[in-house]
Order: sequence, then structure tokens, then C-alpha cells
Amino acid sequence: MAEKEKVSKALKDKLFNQRKNGYSRISKSDEKASMKFAEDYKRFLDKAKTEREAVIEAVELLKAKGFTEYKRGMKLKAGDRIYRVNRGKAVIISVIGKAPIEEGVRLCAAHIDSPRLDLKQNPLYEDNELALFKTHYYGGIKKYQWTAIPLALHGVIIKADGTKVTVAIGEDESDPVFYVSDLLPHLATEQMTRPATKLIRGEDLNLLIGSIPFREDETSEAVKLNILNILYEKYGITEADFISSELEAVPAFKARDIGFDRSLIGGYGHDDRCCSYPALRAAVDCKAPTHTVVTVLTDKEETGSDGNTGLCSSYLEYFIHDLAADLGADGRHVLSASECLSADVNAAFDPTFPEVNEKNNCAYVNRGVCITKYTGARGKSGTSDASAEFTGRIRRLMDSKDVIWQTGELGKVDMGGGGTVAAYIANLDVDTIDMGVPVLAMHAPYEVISKLDLYMAYKAFAVFIAD
Ligand code: MN
Ligand code: MN
Repeated sequence: MAEKEKVSKALKDKLFNQRKNGYSRISKSDEKASMKFAEDYKRFLDKAKTEREAVIEAVELLKAKGFTEYKRGMKLKAGDRIYRVNRGKAVIISVIGKAPIEEGVRLCAAHIDSPRLDLKQNPLYEDNELALFKTHYYGGIKKYQWTAIPLALHGVIIKADGTKVTVAIGEDESDPVFYVSDLLPHLATEQMTRPATKLIRGEDLNLLIGSIPFREDETSEAVKLNILNILYEKYGITEADFISSELEAVPAFKARDIGFDRSLIGGYGHDDRCCSYPALRAAVDCKAPTHTVVTVLTDKEETGSDGNTGLCSSYLEYFIHDLAADLGADGRHVLSASECLSADVNAAFDPTFPEVNEKNNCAYVNRGVCITKYTGARGKSGTSDASAEFTGRIRRLMDSKDVIWQTGELGKVDMGGGGTVAAYIANLDVDTIDMGVPVLAMHAPYEVISKLDLYMAYKAFAVFIAD
């Protein structure tokens, strides 16, 4: 290299923000750890397809790792490991720090609900001797993607006498699955002229559940009757019990490695389990933190965070207040001194659809966990927009601990957009920034992430809560 070029190269190295593939920087030990972490994560994905199941899996892990259920008024001391479940659909995990709680808590917030098809409250009907369930989709989906794939049914039914039945059908190889049909191309001439939003309409998302009539009786709705009879024998439920049920149709696929090099993971519900699982593991692996750690795995993010299990409700705030009271502090002051990572996914640059991203400001697969200063749409509406100071603090922290990270926003300005729970936590006077894993085909029944990015999310959350 000529002397002149050496000078400009050295100056570039110093002055340019070099955005490199994470595999050019990751240590051998981190690379090995990322492969192992991915195996644990895939197991979690397969077992926790709904928010309720994610809570069950989390609590099982927490109990095994010495966490106990928090009761208000508990005598708490540094190193105590506690959790509180909110109505079976969200969980808050805490490890009490050595520093006074007035110095603030290290919050990590991720969501455990994912887009899916919920059953309506009167779901069952028979049409031309086929039995079907009516659904109402949950979260932002491209409806046509949910047809012609195997679907499993998960959830709970509260019977007339108040007892609860838990349902999970379609995950075991021997289970039946369910199915939303699409039109054959031969007869789709009219359908294919519709805009994609109407290709499959909300009322077309009907789940095929059976076809055999009840015995040979000459009765109407014999197929529906046969299904109800099967359900009665299996679960002891009648049709009216659906009214007090929450049944969710989710893709029946298992999480799998993608690519010859096995660098990627395909799975349902990466958004936001690829952040909630690392956040859970970081909390579990955290020993004797300086500041009190509070990790919340929340519900209802995909429908806007409203409702008493979503982060627009006060359940997180109340938990902080309860904790503060038990440690002799004022919850309001704790919140004002706290910091939060809003752990949610971002869109990964897709070479097949480059036009939706601005290439200098989007997340790329394998460049590490993505720090997003602001989200929102139409001029940053609905965002918390982290301050330059807090962004700077997080950037320094990540660099000092060899976390491979990048920055990116969700798509081009005016291309669309999206929000996270960051704004709701920032509104409690908490310094908050978004950080998460880039996802390909987000909200599709089968999404894709990279193992390197997943592990760097875990590392980032672990470093943050331990700081
Ligand atoms: Mn999300
Ligand atoms: Mn989402």
C-alpha cells in the first residue's frame, strides 16, 4: 500500500463509523456461546407459543433458579430473587441490588404476546358439512400469510362452573392440526385482482376443524354436533363455554436452523421472544447486582399495550411502588432515577425488498443487537426518543463490554413505522431506549433472526442490568 493510501486508511479507521459484519469481530468464545444459546432459545420457542405459556416457562425457570413469588410486605435484602405474575399473562422478575433502591432500578421490558388468530366468542359453525371456527386476528398481520399452513390451538376455557381447562393441540407429532384454506389458483382470477389487503379478508380466516357427521342421525348441523361431542368427551365443555375462553391459533411449526451454515433461526414469535428470552436469561443469570434489576415480560404489546396485562396499565408502576415501600423508599423517586432497555425487535434489511429501508439507518442481520433511539411513524409520533445523553451512556457501556451492536430505525421515513413499549415506560419518567434483535419477515407465521444477533441481545441485557 502506498504511503498516501496508508494515511487515508488510518484516518478513515479513526473518523468513519465502520459498520461491519459481526462475524469479523466476534470472539471465538462468544461465537461458541451464541450457538449454545440458540439451542436453549429454540426449545423455549417451541414450548412458549403464547403469552400464558411464556409465563409458565419463565416461572418454571425462575423457581429452578431460586426465585420466589413476591408478596407485598416481604422483608427484602440485597441478592433476593423474586417474581410477580400478572393474571397468568405477564411476569415481573426482580433481583434486589446492593445500592439503595432510590438510586433507581435497571429495567428491561420485552413482550411475550405475538400476532396470531384468536377464536371469536361464538366460534363454532357448520357450513356445507364442514365444521369451522371463526377467528379474529390479533396484532398486525398480512392475512394471506396465515392460510394454507398447519395451525395449533392453545389457550384456556373457563367452564360454566368456573373450572379452567387448558388446551394445547397441534404441537405433538401425533396431534391433529388446523387449517385456514385459500382459493386454488385455477379459480382465483377475481381474487388475484384484489389488493393484497383484501386477498384474504378478516372474515375469511376460518379454521377448518372437522367433517364427520354425528352418527347416521338425520339431524341438522350433524358435523358441528360431532365436534361438540368430541370436545365434551375430551374437555367436558359445551358450546357456551367458548364465551369465556381465550383460544389462540398459532403456527404449528417448530423452530429450526436456517441456511447451510445454520447461522439463522426460523420460528414463530421471534417478535418478541428473541428479546424476552434473552431478557429472562439475563435476569436469571444475574448475581448480586449493584442496582435492583426489574425485568418485565409483558402482554398486549401487539394490540397497543392497553388492558391490565399490557404496559399502558399501571401494573409495572405498582410493582416498583410496592418494592420501594418494602425497602423504605418512595416509588416515585425510584422511577425517576431508573433506566430502561425496551427490548423489542427491529426490521432487518432484506435484500429482496431494499426499497423500504434507508441503507445508512437500518438494521442488518449479523451486525449485532440494534439500538434504536426512536421508533414511531409520521414524524416520530408515538415514540419516546431517548436523549443523546442516555444513548451515549448505553453506547459507551456496550463498547466497554464487547457487545456487538448497531443502530437502525424501522424503515424509511414515511414508509410506515411502528412503536414499542418504550414510550409507556419513558412516560413514567424513566430514561428508556429501544434495543433488540433484527428480524426478517417480522409478523409472518415463520420469522427469521440470526444467532449472533440473538446472543448479543442477551449479552447487552446482561451487561446493562449488571451495571
Ligand atoms: Mn415487538
Ligand atoms: Mn410486533
